[in-house]
Amino acid sequence: MSQPGIPASGGAPIGLQAQNGAARASGSPYTNGPVQNALMSSQVSVSQGHNSQLPGSYPHLLPAKTLNPVSGQSNSGGSQTVSPLSNYQGPGQTVYRPSVASNPVTPSLHSGPVLQMPLPTSQNPAATSMPSGSFLPGANIPPPLNWQYNYSSQTNHCPRASSQPTMPGNTNLTSPQYVSSGDTSLQNNFIKSGIIPNTNNGSVVVHNSYDEIEGGGFLATPQLTNKNPTMSRSVGYSYPSLPPGYQNTIPPSTTGMPPSSLNYPSGPQAFTQTPLGANHLPASMSGLSLHPEGLRVINLLQERNMLPLTPLQPPVPNLHEDIQKLNCNPELFRCTLTSIPQTQALLNKAKLPLGLLLHPFKDLVQLPVVTSSTIVRCRSCRTYINPFVSFLDQRRWKCNLCYRVNDVPEEFMYNPLTRVYGEPHRRPEVQNATIEFMAPSEYMLRPPQPPVYLFVFDVSHNAVETGYLNSVCQSLLDNLDLLPGNTRTKIGFITFDSTIHFYSLQEGLSQPQMLIVSDIEDVFIPMPENLLVNLNESKELVQDLLKTLPQMFTKTLETQSALGPALQAAFKLMSPTGGRMSVFQTQLPTLGVGALKPREEPNQRSSAKEIHLTPSTDFYKKLALDCSGQQVAVDLFLLSGQYSDLASLGCISRYSAGSVYYYPSYHHQHNPVQVQKLQKELQRYLTRKIGFEAVMRIRCTKGLSIHTFHGNFFVRSTDLLSLPNVNPDAGYAVQMSVEESLTDTQLVSFQSALLYTSSKGERRIRVHTLCLPVVSTLNEVFLGADVQAISGLLANMAVDRSVTASLSDARDALVNAVIDSLSAYRSSVLSNQQHGLMVPFSLRLFPLFVLALLKQKSFQTGTNACLDERIFAMCQVKNQPLVYLMLTTHPSLYRVDNLSDEGAININDRTIPQPPILQLSVEKLSRDGAFLMDAGSVLMLWVGRNCGQNFLSQVLGVENYALIPQTMTDLPELDTPESARTIAFISWLREQRPFYPILYVIRDESPMKANFLQNMVEDRTESALSYYEFLLHIQQQVNK
Ligand SMILES: [Zn+2]
Repeated sequence: MSQPGIPASGGAPIGLQAQNGAARASGSPYTNGPVQNALMSSQVSVSQGHNSQLPGSYPHLLPAKTLNPVSGQSNSGGSQTVSPLSNYQGPGQTVYRPSVASNPVTPSLHSGPVLQMPLPTSQNPAATSMPSGSFLPGANIPPPLNWQYNYSSQTNHCPRASSQPTMPGNTNLTSPQYVSSGDTSLQNNFIKSGIIPNTNNGSVVVHNSYDEIEGGGFLATPQLTNKNPTMSRSVGYSYPSLPPGYQNTIPPSTTGMPPSSLNYPSGPQAFTQTPLGANHLPASMSGLSLHPEGLRVINLLQERNMLPLTPLQPPVPNLHEDIQKLNCNPELFRCTLTSIPQTQALLNKAKLPLGLLLHPFKDLVQLPVVTSSTIVRCRSCRTYINPFVSFLDQRRWKCNLCYRVNDVPEEFMYNPLTRVYGEPHRRPEVQNATIEFMAPSEYMLRPPQPPVYLFVFDVSHNAVETGYLNSVCQSLLDNLDLLPGNTRTKIGFITFDSTIHFYSLQEGLSQPQMLIVSDIEDVFIPMPENLLVNLNESKELVQDLLKTLPQMFTKTLETQSALGPALQAAFKLMSPTGGRMSVFQTQLPTLGVGALKPREEPNQRSSAKEIHLTPSTDFYKKLALDCSGQQVAVDLFLLSGQYSDLASLGCISRYSAGSVYYYPSYHHQHNPVQVQKLQKELQRYLTRKIGFEAVMRIRCTKGLSIHTFHGNFFVRSTDLLSLPNVNPDAGYAVQMSVEESLTDTQLVSFQSALLYTSSKGERRIRVHTLCLPVVSTLNEVFLGADVQAISGLLANMAVDRSVTASLSDARDALVNAVIDSLSAYRSSVLSNQQHGLMVPFSLRLFPLFVLALLKQKSFQTGTNACLDERIFAMCQVKNQPLVYLMLTTHPSLYRVDNLSDEGAININDRTIPQPPILQLSVEKLSRDGAFLMDAGSVLMLWVGRNCGQNFLSQVLGVENYALIPQTMTDLPELDTPESARTIAFISWLREQRPFYPILYVIRDESPMKANFLQNMVEDRTESALSYYEFLLHIQQQVNK
């Protein structure tokens, strides 16, 4: 008996239930086109709402550690796993690997990547047999999975605790031109499993073309045969006379400053590069730099409230301060273990997962951008020079990933910041762990693509009923000039029901022309040249279409949905260029390829088994791979009150590096909250930064190996992530193992390199480098554990496990992750066996976060949430940056009826109160107060029955409690300090989140109160353990 009995309390979907309204009768069919819009079908769709209540018999069984020796497979891998490759021949893949040697290759417009798919691999050396219901951290190499499960999407939350406002948008301003020459790009390769390509014998290793791009490009190949490239070639140096324009968004105060002090925290004085060695490490092995608090051992049964009053900060790696101050910001790049275990054996002993969590394209306030024709990289492993390399002398630097000694190119000797020759270690590339390079032409396989935006709209009867077209078209009209792009921007539209409708927007037409293709079996593109048009040249026609579109189909009776054929058409249209496809769908596709059947069985929702988390067809994945091959990403907006099989549909976004947005029960009249949410999120979606035709590679120090990737992308060529689009709201995670002992190593580094085309048509490379110490004892491993990163990685692994095994297996594995690691700590680190549940300070919130995960929508049992909502929650786990994932899992609770300016922060003359964070327990509530819960994508303000009159009148603007409206989703802006504080706090929380969090004001007797209480993860509910019960259970298992 091992049913983990931590089902969460039930709760209705956040969204209000909508009913379909009557079809609007206004507007007339659009009849301008050469083909009349045939509104033929007569059947009105009958929408079937979700069953919202289920009989709940959820046994209160305690989760017990299951050891099932039968299962020798680690079935956790639904993610994309590094494995041997086979070529996937995508359609239209015209990959020409240039003849290697000496001729620079002209980038070919048609050069595309070779798609390669991970194939089953069962012989990963690090994989060991494991019990079911365990991730077996450290040895967890997921098994062969071809069609992996990965999900998309995002929820965002403004990272707190920084008084620095984060600025939206691209902050890359101008950058200095370090015009120089020479090229150190040589062979490219990646250290995988410690294999270093042989470069000494002049042999050329053949890689796939995308390797070459990110690796430095074909133009570099001539030098492959040159063992000693002349680094002193000097062709037309011309250093700018202007101060180097490293990005700085606080220009007014800094423009007068000497360039050297612009942005570099260390300044020129601080970090003198010396060979990595003893002088870097005196503190790192000793634990001395840890705050004494960090060394505490805590008995969780005695100290129950370990939640800090302010947002939990990531642990600081135990590095010498000179190194640490150059290290990558943990918001961008962090590791589950900030002290890396020396061996896989030590990692296995700790029973903690080793992995990285990345938010690589996050909007940054400040980003150094370097323009130089020479991007200095390791000749062996292609690592970009970074703050953690060592300079043996002025002319040689040693790679921190593969240890190869490289020459310093001549032009790198000059420091444009200080304008001093002979200090390569003070170059911006060596002073910034996060940096962006303007990529020279050898980083291109073809000229940078123009920004291309194609919108695909469901216009079936069901879609028209929701009224979504009004919102979307209006939003597009409002933001048309804000779409990231330039004079090359292209735009196009497709609508579909049982047929597919194209719109000619050719410049010079008096009106848009509609073209209907009714053959959905073999879709063709009528007049392809006029369907994706230059936005500037055809702007009036586009605006005309957007104004007309919502009325065009108001009388439609067509209920069928040929989504699959429409996607095929859209793909064909975009194939020549690549770009972003935004698909709006309101129902289950019923016609043509990709048609789906309902398979949700409401009565089985409560069961942890037998739920349909896997796609029912591979059509969407295959099409996504085709899209990926042609640099097309597909974002899916699902607005549906019915089951729409998101498990299948979501694949279109997952593998093409798109995102999924979900608006259950969207209706323009009955669900104004969803309308508001869609509008806000569209605004962000349409205007946020975007990178096209991107690839990302993560490298790590020799001895470490990355084996499993989580997020929305396709894994190309073992370790190269293909991202047709990259956006600032996407997060990624990878799992790692220690393949070779790191005993001779004191520091290891991780570097992510994201090569993309900006909306302005520049090829850029964003590089983040993280440096961490290596440790040899279990205690040190535990001391450096990053509990948020661990929980985030476990959540990703648990999504995979849910799909490949079962939900209950995933839940068992989550619980066992806590039991196993705390048992290891107890047996191997603690000398005297004390009673209680002893945890290292670093893991004091581990049981709480895992309990919160078990109650999270993705993993809860006994829920009445519909299947698509669960799938969507899983999408978010996979695709959102850690900070938002943690907020969705363990929301922040604040008392807000007594906000004060004490401890407030100031941002742009706004005073933002900073109330303490409360434990998620009703014990913390009181009827005379008002409490705000920030759950990432939703904000809930619960007002107690006896809440003070002051708050009611000064903040809510009502005379008394009874007058609080039943549905209130906005606070009035009152001319009172209380109102100003509350609104300032709420808008600050909302800033920068891609998922606009709707605010619900909840009265004590409101039906929404159940949702509020559902997030009280420390409390016992009808079907779930309380935190204390959970601790007792863990203790029981640990002390066995
Ligand atoms: Zn190297």
